[in-house]
Amino acid sequence: MKKIVILGAGESGAGSAILAKKKGFEVFVSDKGEVKQKYRDILDKNKIRWEEGKHTEEEVLSADEVIKSPGVREDVPIVTKLHERGIPVISEIEFAGRYATGTKICVTGSNGKTTVTNLIYHILKKAGKNAAMTGNVGNSFAMAVAEGGYDYYVIELSSFQLDGMFSFRADIAVLMNITPDHLDRYDHNLQNYIDSKFRITQNLSKSEFLIYWADDPIIKSELAKKEYGMTILPFSADSKEGMAAYIENNEIVIDYHTKTNLMTIHDLALKGRHNIFNSMAAAIAGKVLTIRKDIIRESLSDFQGVEHRLEPVITVCGINFINDSKGTNVNSTWYALECMETDVVWIAGGVDKGNDYSELFPVVRQKVKAIVCLGKDNKKIVDSFKDIVPTIVETSSMDEAVKSSYYLAKKGQTVLLSPACASFDLFNNYEDRGRQFKQSVRNL
Ligand code: ADP
Repeated sequence: MKKIVILGAGESGAGSAILAKKKGFEVFVSDKGEVKQKYRDILDKNKIRWEEGKHTEEEVLSADEVIKSPGVREDVPIVTKLHERGIPVISEIEFAGRYATGTKICVTGSNGKTTVTNLIYHILKKAGKNAAMTGNVGNSFAMAVAEGGYDYYVIELSSFQLDGMFSFRADIAVLMNITPDHLDRYDHNLQNYIDSKFRITQNLSKSEFLIYWADDPIIKSELAKKEYGMTILPFSADSKEGMAAYIENNEIVIDYHTKTNLMTIHDLALKGRHNIFNSMAAAIAGKVLTIRKDIIRESLSDFQGVEHRLEPVITVCGINFINDSKGTNVNSTWYALECMETDVVWIAGGVDKGNDYSELFPVVRQKVKAIVCLGKDNKKIVDSFKDIVPTIVETSSMDEAVKSSYYLAKKGQTVLLSPACASFDLFNNYEDRGRQFKQSVRNL
């Protein structure tokens, strides 16, 4: 019996373990940290052997193949040892892709992944399709494949998942954009991160599709480097020539097989320029999947939005509070600030991922009246913006940050939490940060 070892016992690892067991492998799960109760129960219930707090070498190095969870870094000693011995290390998506029979729609990019994944899923559900939403958004792809019976899988892929993908082939790949992120895990080399994102195109041929943002300079130059086999479906808000989706007189036009005026951008449920891109990408996917135009239109106009992504909280004394806790890099925060229609008190900060704030200067100069720093170390933000924004205050808890912002904001202005940083200094994760924000706002 072939042995599969799974590194990491979170959502991705537990899903892989269930699928591997179902497919008749000997399975062992190893996690260097502590395993959450939910996943202990799943593994025990399915009689899968597991360990925590260590990686027992005899167990791990006797694997025929290893599935590495995206949270386990490439450079940890056990992974190095696996490489030295030539034991294949793959991702959950690679493994589950071998057994998935439905259509796979895979979404990646530096920003917009979760939104687009949700939009495409929403379109498929409204069209009455039997679809699963999986990957980085929450539920593992492997678990959905183990459950079986889905005709469509919408899969959000992070670069860490893409790194362990070799033979996997998407039916429809969506690449939203590429801007520097997670460089700490790519040897501070942007090209490594780009290569990782471009893995979404690997193995694609004429009968598969790549939907992508044509105006992204990095995607453009990367595509120009060599011949690719897939059918390309670019979208743009600036040009029309050769585009599968573009904007004309404020309307989204889809040009795939036939030309269709889909809807005006004013009817889109999600506001902001970036959401025009997200909606265009989802609409092209819908069209390729032969979903009716009226269903695509309705889906894009009644979509509820995703928590922590430019999520309106409440208005207190004429001050509007918006939770964009998922704005965890400079580019996403740029889009969040860009679509603000009033002056802004901006709550920012957390764990810096090697940020270069200079691209925010113009939009900050134009819209931000005060900055409330929320992090253990705020020096970089203070230094970057001290000559641009008259008021900068430093805080070290959410309650304090919300109270300061409320005090600084005037009626008619907006308080925006869009940190441009990771959350691990003061919070468990970005969800925790967003929920604490909403709670503190409601307590005002
Ligand atoms: P991801 O899953 O890639 O992290 P999300 O859909 O969760 O992306 O959005 C995260 C944040 O990124 C949003 O709150 C918004 O500020 C910003 N954003 C969303 N879509 C885009 C886009 N297409 N381009 C740039 N920024 C975006």
